[in-house]
Amino acid sequence: MKRSWEKDLPRKQYQNYKRVEQSQPWFEVYDLGNQIYAIYEPYQFQEVISYFIMGEEKALLWDTGNGIGNMKQLVNELWDKEVIVVNSHSHFDHIGSNYQFDIVHVFEHPTMISTMEKGIEQEILDQNYGLETYSYQSPIAYHPLRYRRCKYETFKEGTVFDLGRRRFTVIYTPGHSADSIMLVNDEEKLLLTGDTYYPAQLYCFTEDLFDMYVKTMQMLAEVYADYTLMTSHNEPICEGNILIEVSKFFQKIKNEEISYKTIGNLKEYEWNSFNLLMK
Ligand SMILES: [Zn+2]
Repeated sequence: MKRSWEKDLPRKQYQNYKRVEQSQPWFEVYDLGNQIYAIYEPYQFQEVISYFIMGEEKALLWDTGNGIGNMKQLVNELWDKEVIVVNSHSHFDHIGSNYQFDIVHVFEHPTMISTMEKGIEQEILDQNYGLETYSYQSPIAYHPLRYRRCKYETFKEGTVFDLGRRRFTVIYTPGHSADSIMLVNDEEKLLLTGDTYYPAQLYCFTEDLFDMYVKTMQMLAEVYADYTLMTSHNEPICEGNILIEVSKFFQKIKNEEISYKTIGNLKEYEWNSFNLLMK
C-alpha cells in the first residue's frame, strides 16, 4: 500500500519527458532536452533529483543522490568522457554517492568542509532512511546507509565550470543551508537551484539562516525570474517567475505578516501554495 508521502506519485511532469534506458531500477533518468538529464530517485521519500549535463568535452553531475543506487555506474552508461561532479550543498541526500567518484568539487565553506571531513552522523542517516521512507514499490526494500568519505577539491563563488560550449558559474545562495550554492548558465538562462527552491515544502534549518534566505530569494527574484529552474526534489523543471512569489512569501514571514503552526520544535509557515518549515 502507498505510504502517505507517495499520494501524489507518479508526478505528472515526468510524462513530458522521454525516459532514458539504463540498467538500475532504483533510478529513473529523464531526457529534458539539450543534453540535460534528470536523475530521479522516486522510491525514497526525498524524491531527490541529480542532474547530468553534457558539454562538448566534459559533462557535469550536479549532486550524487542518496547513495542507494550506483551513481557512478549510471553516469558511465551515459557518457565515456570526463565528468565534473559538483555538490549543491552538504545535506546527506545530495552527497550519498560522492565516494564512488575519484574527486568531488565542493564549495569552500566551513559547513561543507566539516561534512566532508567528519561525514554524516549515523543517527541522522538512520532517522532519515527508515523502512517507511522507501516506497511500497521500491526495487530496493531497505538499504542501510553509512557515510563514506570522498576525495574533494574546493571552489569559490564565481568559479566557472567549462564543459566545452557550455559553462556554469557558481553563485552563493545561503538560506536552506549555510553552504548552499547554485550553478548558472547565462547563455541558456538555466539555474540549477539545489534545495534553495523546489516545488514542495521548503526547509530552513536554523532561524539565524532565515535572514540570509530572505536576501538570497530577493536577489534570485530580481535577477533570475526569466530563467528555467532545475530543482533538486520532486519535479525537475520550474519557471523562474515562481521566485518572485517565493520572495514575497519570505518577506511576509520576515515582516511577521503570516502566523505559523508549531510542530514539535519546528515552525510551519503557509501562504498560497507555498510552505516553509523552520527550526
Ligand atoms: Zn538540503
